[in-house]
Amino acid sequence: MKAAMAAEVAEFPAKYGRVPHLAVILVGDNPASVSYVTGKAKASAEVGIRNTTIRREASITEEELLALIAELNADDEVDGILVQLPLPAHIREERVIAAIDVRKDVDGFHPANVAALWQKQPCTLPCTPKGIIRMLERAGVDIAGREAVVIGRSNIVGLPVSKLLLDRNATVTVAHSRTKNLAEVTRRAEILVVAIGRPKFVTADMVSDGAVVIDVGVNRDPETGKLCGDVDYAAIEPKASVITPVPGGVGPMTIACLMENTIECFLRGRE
Ligand code: NAP
Repeated sequence: MKAAMAAEVAEFPAKYGRVPHLAVILVGDNPASVSYVTGKAKASAEVGIRNTTIRREASITEEELLALIAELNADDEVDGILVQLPLPAHIREERVIAAIDVRKDVDGFHPANVAALWQKQPCTLPCTPKGIIRMLERAGVDIAGREAVVIGRSNIVGLPVSKLLLDRNATVTVAHSRTKNLAEVTRRAEILVVAIGRPKFVTADMVSDGAVVIDVGVNRDPETGKLCGDVDYAAIEPKASVITPVPGGVGPMTIACLMENTIECFLRGRE
């Protein structure tokens, strides 16, 4: 996917005079956020997208951050703006997200993009849900008519991926922390998407034979300190027909979709 995008981007200077430009704002020095932002810069370099990472102290005020976004909105040489989440508690994330010009909202978190997704209108799809659907398609999984269970109902993963599965005619159950008899619900899943944020929470007895298992979680294994998903990969891999590893599954596909969204924002109005 990255090689195809790199080949496409390589033609842009001749066609349009420049390459796409992604501006990433990182507030503070949370190690996970630093690592995500570094991954985005690396992927941009691989695809040939210009990446500017703008770092600000955690003490930045909300107004200062909004002023920075306004500057980037007004800059014709910036095609995509991404604010790495989470932000410090004194900054209202919803205000910051809504301040990004919707045409530059490469994360697909702007309220206008969210509304468009739920109204089946053209929009920028959020990267992780888009990447999950892409992975299912690439694995040759038929989504239509299948029983899908999504654990998690966050705005950035659980809810939008449920909507995308529904749009592809899966029958979707959304489970969460108040779901009773979770294992009974997950055992019905032909497609199980797990986005909780708890290491190895989903055990083998919760998954039926032949299920497709998409593990979105990114956690530290309390025993080894290594990265692990929400799913007990070693125990479930033998019984799943498809399973995504952590690290190496949904994460890289999410970043690839971010690159794709940046190219889409750049091309909008040019083609
Ligand atoms: P979040 O906002 O914290 O949401 C977690 C969801 O899990 C909530 O809906 C919560 O239910 C549910 N949950 C928590 N404990 C549960 C339990 N015991 N049983 C059933 N459901 C439970 O998290 P998020 O932002 O969606 O992220 C989820 C995970 O995905 C995290 O590990 C995050 O790091 C990872 N992630 C990965 C990528 C990637 O690109 N790979 C992207 C985004 C996120 P309630 O709603 O009832 O509280």
